[in-house]
Amino acid sequence: MPSAIIIGAGLSGLTAARKLHRSNWSVRLLETRDRIGGRIQTDAVDGFTLDHGFQVYLTGYKMAGQELDLPSLKLGVFPAGALIQTNGKRYRVCDPLRSPWYLAPKHAIETMLAPVGSFADKWNIAKFRQRVCSADEVQMLGVQQATARARLEQMGFSNRIIEKFFRPFFGGIFLDNSLSVSAGLMEFVFRTFSQGFAALPGNGMQAIPDQIASSLPSETIQLNTTVASVEEDRVVLSTGEPRTADCIIIATEEPTARRLLNSNTGSMKQQAAPAPCASTSCLYFSVENPPIREATLVLNGDGEGIINNLCFPSFAQPTYAPVGRALLSVSTIGHIEPTGEALLNSVINQLADWFGPSARSWQHLRTYRVPVALPNQSPESLATRSVHSRLSERVYRCGDYCESGSIEGAIQSGLKVADLVIRQRELVNL
Ligand SMILES: Cc1cc2nc3c(=O)[nH]c(=O)nc-3n(C[C@H](O)[C@H](O)[C@H](O)COP(=O)(O)OP(=O)(O)OC[C@H]3O[C@@H](n4cnc5c(N)ncnc54)[C@H](O)[C@@H]3O)c2cc1C
Repeated sequence: MPSAIIIGAGLSGLTAARKLHRSNWSVRLLETRDRIGGRIQTDAVDGFTLDHGFQVYLTGYKMAGQELDLPSLKLGVFPAGALIQTNGKRYRVCDPLRSPWYLAPKHAIETMLAPVGSFADKWNIAKFRQRVCSADEVQMLGVQQATARARLEQMGFSNRIIEKFFRPFFGGIFLDNSLSVSAGLMEFVFRTFSQGFAALPGNGMQAIPDQIASSLPSETIQLNTTVASVEEDRVVLSTGEPRTADCIIIATEEPTARRLLNSNTGSMKQQAAPAPCASTSCLYFSVENPPIREATLVLNGDGEGIINNLCFPSFAQPTYAPVGRALLSVSTIGHIEPTGEALLNSVINQLADWFGPSARSWQHLRTYRVPVALPNQSPESLATRSVHSRLSERVYRCGDYCESGSIEGAIQSGLKVADLVIRQRELVNL
């Protein structure tokens, strides 16, 4: 039986492990942490379900949809559209055709009257959606030269709608509100949103990696095991212990993958330093009388203050809060400073500004800071990044940075590398 060592039990490593296991490979997943899931983790705190950073599963994901048993995740969905917080008020922007029928006329009027862009802008959003939904995915992702902002300007959107809607919306998704991600990726994500809904599993986002791991024999996964270096036919653990296998797959975050690859002294090419990753902080609060009784995303349309977006996820997925309470999730992006109390105070001050003094009594549950949240996805970074899955005869890699910084990208990358490993083995055996 051929053997593989996979470094990292995030979504990409788990997906690759499951595919290889199903193809009768002996697989060993080595994970540095004491739990699986990588960047998708969930804690249960006082009856609340807290994901490590605000994340959603998009029902429009094709590959992930095929790999996961979605019904057993018991997804709760968010309404389409967003509320834009600007000049002291909130305004709805949505596609009324995707609202429940009894709300559609009201939402259509609200959207048309929202002072966050002209009528032409709103019409343009509908055209944008129609165009991306019929575009070819490969072509879309192949066009990497332009930034999202340049593409939006080129499509004729006004500065007002870009600043008030697109900047905080895509900023929240890509964790970069300068709109400097690649235009192709922006279009791909806009399409995925348009073709489905954002959703949360009943047991939190970690139910996604947990589901994949549940089809692996328990002895496959070795937690609290850090790989210090990778060589052609073996890995060396931080304890100095070597482990050998027919093939090695590096499934860590991009900066660690680079460090491990550069630790080799053999035939593998040294890797250039990746551009800085996108980071975020997520603060959770328990709220007794929420000022908004829906899960719709609230976006910072003024661009002032530390909050980029917030929502009450427990209205989308009631298991996220105990009865009689709502869970508030607040996201800041790209902020390394301030931290601790200073960050909390800035957030509370802004919440009080948006929702009134009662926000000061909301109970802070936890703050999650995620410095390495998403790979850099600017056109320059994508153009220079080498994402070949095969690095040498026996060493491979996978991870979201090889495809796109998303659940879909991580799963796609895990499947791709496993396919390649299996194919190479078949060629050798011919
Ligand atoms: C805050 C946040 C919000 C997000 N929002 C969304 C969203 O809404 N929708 C969406 O689709 N995606 C979202 N994403 C992206 C998505 O979560 C990631 O793209 C995906 O989980 C990455 O999986 P991965 O396997 O590539 O990497 P990871 O999950 O990072 O897995 C890498 C694993 O390698 C392990 N490891 C590292 N070094 C070593 C070592 N030396 N030895 C052994 N193990 C090691 C790590 O501990 C980790 O478990 C978000 C991510 C974050 C952080």
